[in-house]
Amino acid sequence: MQSETITQALTAVCREIDRVDACMLLQHVLNVNHAFLLTYPDHVLIPQQTTEFFCLAKQRIGGTPIAYLTGERAFYDLNFKVTEAVLIPRPETELLVEWALKLIPVDQPRKILDLGTGSGAIAITIAKHRPQSQVTAVDLSADALAVCRWNTKNLRVNNLHLIAGNWFDELSGERFDLIVSNPPYVAESDPHLKQGDLRFEPQIALSAGDNGLACIGHIINAAPRHLVKSGWLLLEHGYDQAAACRRLLAHRDFSNICCYPDLAGIMRVSGGQMNASVSI
Ligand code: GLN
Repeated sequence: MQSETITQALTAVCREIDRVDACMLLQHVLNVNHAFLLTYPDHVLIPQQTTEFFCLAKQRIGGTPIAYLTGERAFYDLNFKVTEAVLIPRPETELLVEWALKLIPVDQPRKILDLGTGSGAIAITIAKHRPQSQVTAVDLSADALAVCRWNTKNLRVNNLHLIAGNWFDELSGERFDLIVSNPPYVAESDPHLKQGDLRFEPQIALSAGDNGLACIGHIINAAPRHLVKSGWLLLEHGYDQAAACRRLLAHRDFSNICCYPDLAGIMRVSGGQMNASVSI
């Protein structure tokens, strides 16, 4: 493969892939930031880099998500390793983290639970911003937990405890001040599962039965047994599931039930507080 400059390499692929994607791949191959690409357009790639760049670009043309090609994705203020074993962290999930951080005092110990943690984006970000808290992160997938463990170490988080298990199954008798989750919620029949990045992501992390509500329903139903009095449950959900979430939360006697929209204006996160007067 002949040597190419930054400009030549980008131009060669830009007809077939998005320019932003091409830049991200080239930054990854050269281990530089975007400013480097802009500042040194005539920088010459070594042949190995050229080969790697075109190989990644080819995979991108085939649809592989950028995050799986570069092996990382920024979330909130941290950078997470991602593999095909975990969902790619999304900006709308930052809303869940923001709400959680508002509920957790900075200077007091709190017990937080993240169900279906995947890469650990939610749990690790909360743990990092609330060092007095003890965060427990649960996932069913051993491969996902390995990614989460790697991120925990890499981001130097030491107030996070990982558990392999199915939702609350390994937590009998344990109660938390706050439970958060971004569970699978896409309906199994949703055509989006066969489009874009979703085709490459783990189905176990994306889709659920009962029109997408099976896991959300299970979590809402079981959460009161794992929350302290006045504890909160916050859940991310699908674009059309806010009303159903509200109904499920109300049915389990949660109070202060609220929904918040994501940046696109779509109701995306719902939650409620355990009613201190309800016996559980
Ligand atoms: N938000 C994802 C989507 O784009 C789904 C994530 C999930 O199921 N938790 O469909």
